[in-house]
Amino acid sequence: MSRLLTVPDPALVVLVGVAGSGKSTFARRVFAPTQVLSTDAFRAMVTDDPADQSAGRAAFELLHRVAALRLAGGRLTVVDATNTWPDARADLVDLARAHAVPAVAVVLDVPPRVCAERNRSRPGGPPVPEPVLRQQRARLRAALATLADEGFAMVHVLDGPEEVGSATVELVERAG
Ligand code: ATP
Ligand code: MG
Repeated sequence: MSRLLTVPDPALVVLVGVAGSGKSTFARRVFAPTQVLSTDAFRAMVTDDPADQSAGRAAFELLHRVAALRLAGGRLTVVDATNTWPDARADLVDLARAHAVPAVAVVLDVPPRVCAERNRSRPGGPPVPEPVLRQQRARLRAALATLADEGFAMVHVLDGPEEVGSATVELVERAG
């Protein structure tokens, strides 16, 4: 049975998952391309390289700016970033609140060995180093314990690669 995720429209959808968990693939499958804001894409815009971490701050600022403009227009917006740091999620919850739209967390809880394997076999650029993956994994585990209290209107947890690969989204229009 595939999972059907209810998502209010508009909302700010916050993907949460370590590198290689399949966030961008999932977002591409279930949302429209223009709805998805990815830190990689914004990094590429300012440095020509989606993996250039030195552009983190600029990419983050741009992503927030575009998300704010979209939310002000009442448009569903998906943030495709690891979002494993609590501060990153708190900023996004604040952004959603400032525009009076619900924030929805979608966690991609995929085993580390699957993420590591996908990272290794992924085309383009060097893989994310294993220690970084391990840190992301530890923060994701911590997030699973705190997400319910972080101000999200809904928290959807996709458990394992099969659920991530088959889940679908039902948009529910908000009145008003
Ligand atoms: P990052 O945080 O580094 O951007 P990500 O979470 O966005 O990673 P993806 O780029 O979506 O991850 O996926 C990583 C790799 O795993 C890609 O090569 C992709 O083709 C593969 N992959 C993603 N989802 C699946 C799936 N459901 N089944 C098989 N392979 C997948
Ligand atoms: Mg990605």
